[in-house]
Amino acid sequence: EVDSWQRELRAQFPIVTAHPDLTYLDSAATSQKPRAVLDAVQTYLTTSNANAGRGTYPWANRTTELVERARERVKEFLGDRQPGRSTVHFTSGTTEGLRTVARDWLVPLLADGDEILVPFADHRANLEPWLEARRLLAERGVDVRVRDLPYQASSGDYDHRALDEVVGPRTRFVAATHVHHVYGGDMNVHRLRAAVGPGVPICLDAAQSVGHLPVDVGDPALDVDFVVFSGHKAMALPGTGAVWARNTRGPVLRPEGWQGTPNTAGIVSLLAALDWLDAAGPERIARHVTRLTTRLTDRLHRLGGYEILGCPVGLAADSALPAAQRRHGIVTFRHRDIPSDDLGFILYSHGFMVRADSLCQAGVDEKSGSVRVSLHVYSTDEEIDRLLSVLGSLE
Ligand code: PMP
Repeated sequence: EVDSWQRELRAQFPIVTAHPDLTYLDSAATSQKPRAVLDAVQTYLTTSNANAGRGTYPWANRTTELVERARERVKEFLGDRQPGRSTVHFTSGTTEGLRTVARDWLVPLLADGDEILVPFADHRANLEPWLEARRLLAERGVDVRVRDLPYQASSGDYDHRALDEVVGPRTRFVAATHVHHVYGGDMNVHRLRAAVGPGVPICLDAAQSVGHLPVDVGDPALDVDFVVFSGHKAMALPGTGAVWARNTRGPVLRPEGWQGTPNTAGIVSLLAALDWLDAAGPERIARHVTRLTTRLTDRLHRLGGYEILGCPVGLAADSALPAAQRRHGIVTFRHRDIPSDDLGFILYSHGFMVRADSLCQAGVDEKSGSVRVSLHVYSTDEEIDRLLSVLGSLE
């Protein structure tokens, strides 16, 4: 079942091939890096490393040029058909990206009595910046209401029926997520846009979608104003990320400039990573990862003794489900009796690296925890089957 396309791509990840006895199943935390990315960084650091934006000699000019090229590459990768209007800001990851949008863009936009919609069930990184924005405004006597963007774990999507009740004439902004970091559901952003109307900015936390599935802001179905993502989850180096801002509604995010020294090696790695992902084909990657996710979910259900979070029996196995209800690369579960951190240790004793804790999700029962398996293009059927055989032996 593992085709040669996938085998060839997997072979390009030195850390994966160097450790045949270990299986990395924590790609939602950060991805492994292909050789092309490592080589691009090595080449940059050994041929033209200098600071950016202040060049009077070739290495500095070359560095500036690489950073500018990476900016354009982000726009192109995201399907931006109007790159002259949009801006790209490099960050250390999604957390910093969302904080930047909240502080620099949202705070000046809001007025007394405005409402913003924020998904309380999402990653803390996509909750705290908006709460912080409300606090900052409250200190200035501006009262903003933060309303919950209701999430329905069983469908893996926002609760679109409940959504109509929280959207109102004072809704000024929506913070949404593309793929949920615990349940792996692909949100129906198109329906979200339809519910809030054309004039309300939507900021998309794309930490779990960029690099995993096509993210195309030129597609009317993905009519969002910001895409915030982590480069390090999409094959680039740690400490990389970006904010793409459409700049068609509301103020411009921040003038493009050179305040301080950017993470040039990281930005170079992001440029190489986006080239690599495009060459591999985001749609093909998505198909591979979705197929593995379905295989895991389906067989894990059949084992018994395990509860898959947000995934009722048979849901993932039904390939006729609309895309929004299919799961992408993330399966989170609990064993009936074995505490999740113990399960994490047991799995590592068999060479599997998974995430085992409360997964940075606000409002969940931290004590019960869970185990998250997350996949990328280098993951294989064989790894899933070996994992299932260990999980099956614990029933
Ligand atoms: N949002 C989501 C949905 C995530 O999964 C993560 C990473 N786990 C983040 C935000 C934070 O990303 P970073 O650590 O790169 O800041």
